[in-house]
Amino acid sequence: MAFGKLFVVATPIGNLKDLSYRAEETLKNIDFIACEDTRVTSILLKNFDIHRELISFNAQSESRKIEYVLERIKNGENCALVSDAGTPCISDPGVRLVNEAIKNGIEIAGIPGPNAAILALSISGLPTDSFVFEGFIPQKKGRQKKLKELCDEKRTIVLYESTYRIEKLLIELNEYMPNRFVVVCRELTKMFEESWRGYPKELLEEFPNKTNKGEYVVIISPIKWE
Ligand code: SAM
Repeated sequence: MAFGKLFVVATPIGNLKDLSYRAEETLKNIDFIACEDTRVTSILLKNFDIHRELISFNAQSESRKIEYVLERIKNGENCALVSDAGTPCISDPGVRLVNEAIKNGIEIAGIPGPNAAILALSISGLPTDSFVFEGFIPQKKGRQKKLKELCDEKRTIVLYESTYRIEKLLIELNEYMPNRFVVVCRELTKMFEESWRGYPKELLEEFPNKTNKGEYVVIISPIKWE
């Protein structure tokens, strides 16, 4: 029997209308979906009237489930890998599954779509010809070292940050790179989407007037800019 395929499918980062037509079509036609959280993906499927088997595939279960998913694909089933939001494998589970699938001779098809980092870069107004994506920097151990390293980074820097650490990050940027222009994008594509721009000190001054709840992408300008 011929192997099935592994489809890596990007899903919305907040606005369900951002699911692409191809993503919808793919999710309707595959045999099963490996998703981070079945409750989150169920909401998406319900909205598009998609009825497919969901199996949970997250950071905790990834190593246990890889073999199971690969076996099913080798037995001819098509699988879609999705994460809770955005593009799988980008600061999300799935890298090992894709890697093992490739090693097993399984064909991979990517269905492109939303990604918070690329969206934030595209609206940042900062140079995008060359950038470095760092995702989440370490929360505790290694955080200061990473920030020091980034001080020498010549390209635009893209970071992901959570509600809980965004203020801390701005304080750190003010300490480590006060002369770099920063764009903070919050809740992209959602109802309370906003972006603020300025040097770290200016952003910190504004911070108390802001609701800090939400998801963030932080874009930091190159060392020499304008
Ligand atoms: N795979 C996802 C992607 O393609 O963007 C990223 C997943 S990562 C676990 C989640 C982080 O992405 C959030 O903590 C936040 O930093 C960023 N993010 C995701 N959705 C966002 C949104 N709507 N607005 C701003 N940042 C977002």
